[in-house]
Amino acid sequence: MHEIVSAQLPVLSEGWRQTCGWQPTPEQQQQCQKLFECILQANQHLNLTRILDPQEFWEKHLWDSLLGIAPWLCLSSPQPIPDWLQQISADLSLTDPDAMKVIDIGTGGGFPGLPVAIIQPHWSMTLLDSTQKKLTALEPVIAALGLKQVTTCCDRAETLGQNPAYRQSFDLALIRAVGTASVCAEYALPLVRLQGYAILYRGQLTHEEEQTLAAVLPSLGGKIVAVAQVPMPLSSGVRHCIYIHKHQPTDPKFPRRVGLPARRPL
Ligand code: SAM
Repeated sequence: MHEIVSAQLPVLSEGWRQTCGWQPTPEQQQQCQKLFECILQANQHLNLTRILDPQEFWEKHLWDSLLGIAPWLCLSSPQPIPDWLQQISADLSLTDPDAMKVIDIGTGGGFPGLPVAIIQPHWSMTLLDSTQKKLTALEPVIAALGLKQVTTCCDRAETLGQNPAYRQSFDLALIRAVGTASVCAEYALPLVRLQGYAILYRGQLTHEEEQTLAAVLPSLGGKIVAVAQVPMPLSSGVRHCIYIHKHQPTDPKFPRRVGLPARRPL
């Protein structure tokens, strides 16, 4: 096996502050560097990500993963809060929790779950994926980072959502790049407890997609409370995060059986 000599991730304090009203401590920056190196190492055996360039990794994996939880990050940050976040924080009316039980659905190479676990070590994190070999590749990464509060779970979201040990048990569900917005909602909402949140990470988000999502949410017990549209700090793109509040129990018939949500979206 080759020794990986990886480049340094950029620090980009201003990028963090302007977009998230927060910036990592030097220790957190070091942990993120270690994550980058471990993912490159793991990627030699199994393709977890095609993003290997440090700048791109910073933006598409680190910044993007943490953008979703920016409303929580800024709660204890001394930095000025950017306008988009002030509005969303008000809409979510969050308090700083001592601990949260979080699930990352379809984690793949560990995103957004691993960056979130590094920055919020007091949150428990379940990394869910239907592919065991991806989770097996993540185990040494989790161990090297010393993330004792992170566990992996190999299952389908459709199965886990109907398992009484997991159903309606998470404070927060994160889901990125697993399907259309309404498919992601059908995977995520059954796993979220009452008064908890699901965060759907989206690249582009069309008005139509948002309308379709809003129409299916009542049967899942959710309601869109905020949609963040944030310009990416390094490239010209935009990222969206949809914040869904679970205010009612999910109809027991959801999630439907394995494969159906993706084949026949609500
Ligand atoms: N979330 C990661 C990211 O944004 O980089 C990985 C996204 S990857 C495109 C989608 C992942 O979701 C794959 O690892 C796949 O195995 C997993 N997946 C797809 N459908 C799933 C399901 N129904 N239940 C659990 N995992 C699923």
